[in-house]
Amino acid sequence: MKCTVHLVLAVLAVHAAAPALAAGSHEHGRADLQIAVEADVIDIHLGGALDGFVGFEHRPRNAAERARVASAVAQLSSPEQLVVPPPEADCRVTLAEARDPFAEPAVGGADAAPHVELSASWQFRCRAPQALAGLRLTLFQAFPELERIDVVVLDDRGPRVHRLAPPDALLPLR
Ligand SMILES: [Zn+2]
Repeated sequence: MKCTVHLVLAVLAVHAAAPALAAGSHEHGRADLQIAVEADVIDIHLGGALDGFVGFEHRPRNAAERARVASAVAQLSSPEQLVVPPPEADCRVTLAEARDPFAEPAVGGADAAPHVELSASWQFRCRAPQALAGLRLTLFQAFPELERIDVVVLDDRGPRVHRLAPPDALLPLR
């Protein structure tokens, strides 16, 4: 029991302090999804190789590639379309942050970085958290280049790991 508590605290600390570091290694087609449920709040962090979201990792070279990155960032800014709590839980998005990895001008020449990651942070607040039986995910549908999502769910029952592959399915929380 004591071990379990320590593990939860350790994972929570990593999650809170450095979500990017908590994620696994950079691997094309794979993303990490961390979901922490505490009382009526769900904190979610999604991160992974940009390739899994848009199909390439270089700085956009034309309008079509620029549009593809902008579209992915826009999708990640609307978590209610990607991670859907049950309607009876009455959840609202209270935070949605997704950063365009190419928002800053390139340093050290074009494509100086061989790999690029995309990440998003979301928070939901739910009026009836007891109804949070699961989350309906649409990430594989939204990002067809994604082949795998490694999920860690943290709540008062301790951490649970899920390895997801297409098609999208309900992620149990209970
Ligand atoms: Zn890469």
